[in-house]
Amino acid sequence: MTASCALCEPSPLLTLWQDDFCRVVLLNDVDYPAYCRVELKEHVKEMTDLAPIDRARMMKVVFAVESAMREIIQPDKINLASLGNKTPHVHWHIVPRFDGDKHFPNSHWGEATQSGKQPEFSLSVLAALKTKIAELIPCALSS
Ligand SMILES: [Zn+2]
Repeated sequence: MTASCALCEPSPLLTLWQDDFCRVVLLNDVDYPAYCRVELKEHVKEMTDLAPIDRARMMKVVFAVESAMREIIQPDKINLASLGNKTPHVHWHIVPRFDGDKHFPNSHWGEATQSGKQPEFSLSVLAALKTKIAELIPCALSS
């Protein structure tokens, strides 16, 4: 744990799934309502600092979240990103993208290209996403 690391603190965000290893949170981003992040619970800087089995575990969770998004909200594209320049604590951004969204086709961190917004997702759709994530992650981890 690092005193200045936000990801070492309990998350203030809605947790969609977690175990002792990592958690999946919903970022509640106004432009990207289904934007999720997978956060390792231990303060580790790089994926290659993890044992190979834990690297694989992290990616199984990331891919399970991606699969849940594809099934429930059917985005045009999903962006996966791991930067950590500001927060050097292993985490993956999982960003469903739609070709009418504000930054498409740029990164969602890039320059806005249009005034478009993503589709609105009702609470029931986000609840369905949470349910699907909770269904797919244990399956992925047991395979
Ligand atoms: Zn940390």
